[in-house]
Amino acid sequence: MIKADLHCHTLASAHAYSTVFELLTFAKKKGLSMLAMTDHAPALPDSPNIWHFRNLRTLPEEYDGVRLLRGVEANIMDENGALDMPDKLLSALDWVIASFHDDAYRGSDIQTNTKTWLNIIENPCVNMLGHPDRLPFEFDHETVIKACREYGKAVEINNHSFRMKRGSTRDLEDIVRVCKKYDVLIAINSDAHVCFEVGEVSDAERLITDMGYKKDLVLNYSPEMILDIVSKKRGTDG
Ligand SMILES: [Zn+2]
Ligand SMILES: [Zn+2]
Repeated sequence: MIKADLHCHTLASAHAYSTVFELLTFAKKKGLSMLAMTDHAPALPDSPNIWHFRNLRTLPEEYDGVRLLRGVEANIMDENGALDMPDKLLSALDWVIASFHDDAYRGSDIQTNTKTWLNIIENPCVNMLGHPDRLPFEFDHETVIKACREYGKAVEINNHSFRMKRGSTRDLEDIVRVCKKYDVLIAINSDAHVCFEVGEVSDAERLITDMGYKKDLVLNYSPEMILDIVSKKRGTDG
């Protein structure tokens, strides 16, 4: 059973429906001890204002035994790896996801998308590649995932991807296969948009279990490993 969910949205993202309190309450109920709150960075039409992220320190670091990580799901804006939030703010957050969303980045050819991911991976502010299976953002799995290993980035297996309509996601099995080949850290997350979904990662968990993924490379089973990543990141902020 997982102990941490590293991707969820509060009602600050307009197409999500729960408060921080509700998410934390359900996290506790589901037996989690860590939750990352990762609303959409400002480039999407449903995103909160940048002030939402500047003020995240107002939130408690822990509530009722659940550690709250202040995070963001940042939007990849171009092939140079630009994100829609200044580095200064990104580096002050605990958990930074970088994702392709088609309101911010137009899918390009495989070569360009691969180059884009490589630029993202080199960014020390980024912790995790968000739902990399989504189309039309195809990329070279070998090249990108190998770089994740080199730079210590996690690859997300997003539980929502299993429920998306056919043709909107890419071969998740192949992503897991290549992650396994290079011993890359992965995270299985709910991407909850309502409190009832927090910790719901059963499809992603089934896939990685069936494929024999090493448990000690799955962040969700080890809040200690996640805190280690967060504290090292803080250490580089100066
Ligand atoms: Zn997303
Ligand atoms: Zn999301």
